[in-house]
Amino acid sequence: MTRESLETIRKRLLTMRETRLQQCRRQNADAAALLDEGVADVADQGLTDSLKDYLHLLSDAGREEILAIDEALERLRNGNYEKCEGCGKNIGISRLEVLPFTRLCLTCQKNTEQQESTKAGPAKGQL
Ligand SMILES: [Zn+2]
Repeated sequence: MTRESLETIRKRLLTMRETRLQQCRRQNADAAALLDEGVADVADQGLTDSLKDYLHLLSDAGREEILAIDEALERLRNGNYEKCEGCGKNIGISRLEVLPFTRLCLTCQKNTEQQESTKAGPAKGQL
């Protein structure tokens, strides 16, 4: 990968990170506003609890993505960006352009997904 394309990806990662951070902040502000409203209507406590869970999940996903982006930026700095964490081979520019914060090559990603669906158990094969 050329220095130029690495720099392009670094900028894109920084933009994604900033967008994600803003989304998380907005979600947290929305959650706070909704929960404030919920306190006024104590009768429907169940709804407020599930709302809390839902918003918590949302911001968790956002946090995980920000972490993944941070790790990708770190790998860019120390020169491991193109290396697959699973097998040590090159991930490949076409994959990194689509998924700039991936840590695995396509083969390792597929293996991981297979392991996960095996773990999920009975649900598999019902489709
Ligand atoms: Zn791999």
